This record gives sequence, structure tokens and C-alpha cells, in this order.
Amino acid sequence: MPDLRGLPSVDKLLRSRRAVAWLDDFGRPLVVQALRDALADARQNARQGNSVPDEGALLEAAQHKLLCWVAPTLRGVINASGVIVHTNLGRAPLSAEALEAARAVSTGYSNLEYDLEKGRRGSRLLHAERLLTRLTGAEAALVVNNNAAAVLLALTALARRRRVVIARSQLVEIGGGFRIPDVMKQSGAILVEVGTTNRIHLHDYQQVIAAQPVKLVMRAHRSNFAIIGFTTEPTLAEIVRLAHAAKVPVLDDLGSGTLLDTAAYGLAHEPMVQESLEAGADLVCFSGDKLLGGPQAGIIVGRADLLEKLKKHPLARAVRADKLALAALSATLLHYLKDEALEKIPVWRMISAGVDAIGERARAWVARLGRGEVLIGESTVGGGSLPGESLPTRLLALDVPHVNRFLRRLRESDPPVIGRAQDGKAVFDPRTVLSEQEDALLRALEHALM
Ligand SMILES: *Cc1c(COP(=O)(O)O)cnc(C)c1O
Repeated sequence: MPDLRGLPSVDKLLRSRRAVAWLDDFGRPLVVQALRDALADARQNARQGNSVPDEGALLEAAQHKLLCWVAPTLRGVINASGVIVHTNLGRAPLSAEALEAARAVSTGYSNLEYDLEKGRRGSRLLHAERLLTRLTGAEAALVVNNNAAAVLLALTALARRRRVVIARSQLVEIGGGFRIPDVMKQSGAILVEVGTTNRIHLHDYQQVIAAQPVKLVMRAHRSNFAIIGFTTEPTLAEIVRLAHAAKVPVLDDLGSGTLLDTAAYGLAHEPMVQESLEAGADLVCFSGDKLLGGPQAGIIVGRADLLEKLKKHPLARAVRADKLALAALSATLLHYLKDEALEKIPVWRMISAGVDAIGERARAWVARLGRGEVLIGESTVGGGSLPGESLPTRLLALDVPHVNRFLRRLRESDPPVIGRAQDGKAVFDPRTVLSEQEDALLRALEHALM
């Protein structure tokens, strides 16, 4: 066994020039821990017959540990995948104004729950509610942590131990473990499914509602898949008419939902929040960070008396939205109110971007890199909306020897770049790359091409 007495002490290593320089960057306790761990590793290795490292090697090992320990695991990436609302990449990027609003209420104190006029306790529910009711025409609104929480809260507060009717074709799994039947079970509601997987008729609802007491009729947007072929399903308005005749309220889980019409941009029509309310849905819930283009949030709009029950339920406290989300959401909603969503909200800027402008960016990338070509391709919306739908786009395509290895090297760059492989080439969609990220993207590409 090598002579362990050759190893320096922690104190000696701490006095080295390199370790002294680390103290400012990492703090003394962490540096000491790294040196201790490096020494322990060396002893362990030596006992297995390996040679004893010199001081330089020990410091190198300690530095590696320090860098690993402080490296942020959650970091910004450049999304060149062409998927606009990419759930794995954090869904919607915020507008500059939304980000500033979150900063403004969080670097100092705020009137989150303080009525400035009366000088006493106020309600955090107020802040986004006014904007939401104005934008959608709903009587009332409530914002919670995310849409999963919104659905759980609505079912729990309105239908615990009671029957909830839903079409079999809507018992979907959205991803990330959100399954309508499981949420239903968690809420304590009793699931009553109607119809078949592909065909549901109004009389299916009728029979179930006539046969037993029902507390709620729910509709869930299928979100990330489509049923095609021999299918039928009553419209929301028809379901509402039937349910209301039996004095049963209707909850519509839109998933993404949208305030603007996707059909205006060459896509299929994604159900709009305003349409569900017009069709008579009593409560409509949707996400803050899908097509709305704001922060993570779950939004419920609809009848004031029902929303009052939700607001008073103990679960509402457990799933409440935080001040950063409320601030960013309000700023995002303001973009819609001021009719500037297309220019200001990144998701909508990306959806409405013209293919000519995208092609121009792709050509500029080719020019700057001095290689690659521009290909015709497709971007998708993502975020559990518009399955099978795509927007025509132009891609930067790079013909490299090992595409997957190249894409992996890009994921390891700083900031990481997410591209994709297509027909044996590495492709990058300008549609989802923010203009302020272009420089960093091209630098990463140049580096990976070297
Ligand atoms: C995405 C989605 C949810 C969950 O929304 P989160 O904001 O991710 O919690 C719920 N229902 C439907 C239909 C969805 O598409």
C-alpha cells in the first residue's frame, strides 16, 4: 500500500494560493469540505493500490467538486426545436413587462394582501381577477398555482362525494402524471362516464342525469391527441342546455385555452375561453403558461357563486398563486387588454411570425456560419394544444458527420442549445429562438462545428 503520510493536511491545502482564491467564490465551509472530500477520495484510492496524488492533483479534484456543487441545475436554454410551448423547456417565455412586474413586486415589499386605500388587509385574489373578468366577460375569476390545481380545487369544492359526469373520450392523461380519472378520485368526486371512446350522444348524458343525482357535468379538452374517423360528440352548448335543464352546473377544463383565435394564423381553431363562457359553461379553467403565454398558473373563470365556494375551500389556500406569478400574469393579461399581445407576448409573436421573416433569419445564420442550408420545415405549438397541427417554417440545417453527437455537444454548451435531427441533419428553427439569443446560439454552433 502506498504511503498515506505523503498526503498533505487540509490546513496545508487551505493555505495554497489556489485555495485562498476560492474562499471568495465559494465560502470557507464549502472549500474545506471539498478539500476534505478530495483527501478522503485519495486515501480510498490509495488503499485500493493506486498512487498518492500530489498537491496539484488534489486541488484539481477539490475544484471539480466545488464547481459541481454550485452549478445551477435549473438554467436558461435556447429552444431551437420549433416547439413553441415546450413543456420540458419551461413552457411560455415571459414578456419583458411580465418579467419586470415580477421583479418589481419581489425585490421589495408589495400590496399583495394590503388595501392601500383603506390601510388594512386586502385580498391577493383581487389583482388578476379584474383583468380576467374584463377580458373574458366572466362574472368572477380565481388564480391558483396551476391548472391541475384548478381542476382539483373545482372538483373538490363542488363535487366531493357526489357524481360528476364526463364523456369516456375525455378521460385523458395530459402528461406529467395528470390523469382526469385520478384527479377525480383525488377530489373525492364519483366518476360517471358516458358514451364510448369515439362516439358520445346527447342522450348518453340525458340518460345518466335522469337516472341519478348528479352534481356536476365536466368537459375536458383532449389536449394532446385527436380522435378522427367515426366520431361524434355534442357541442358544449348542447351539453350545457341539457345540464342546466336538470339544474346541474358545467365545468369546462380547456387545458391550454386561448384568448386569441389560433385559426387566424393558419392553425386549427383551439377552443377559446370566451367561447366556453358564451356556450354557458359555469366554470372554465385553463393554464397560465400554455397559449396564454404567461407564468405558471391555473385560472378559473365563471359564475361568482361557484367561485365563492372555491375561494372559501381550505384547498384554495394550499394551491394559491404566489406574488411573482400574480404580477407576471397581470402584466401578461394587460397585453391582451391593450391589444398588443401579438407584439409583446413571446408565444404569440412566435405563432404569428411570418415564414418570410423566419427564412430571412435562417439565411442570415447560414451567412454568418459560412455553412449550412435553409430547409423548409414545420414548427408546432405544443403545450397540449393543437395536436397534429403545424406552422410552415424555415430551418437552418447543418450536415454534420454525427448528428446526435453534435446535438449533444450543443446541449452541453453554455447556454445549452436544443435543436433536433431531421433527415440525418441537425436542424434549428428560428421561430422559437428569441432575437436576443441569436448571438449566443451562433457562437454555440460555431464552437460545436470546430
Ligand atoms: C395541461 C392541462 C392541464 C394541466 O394544466 P397545468 O397548468 O399544467 O397544471 C389540465 N387539463 C388539461 C385538459 C390540460 O391540457
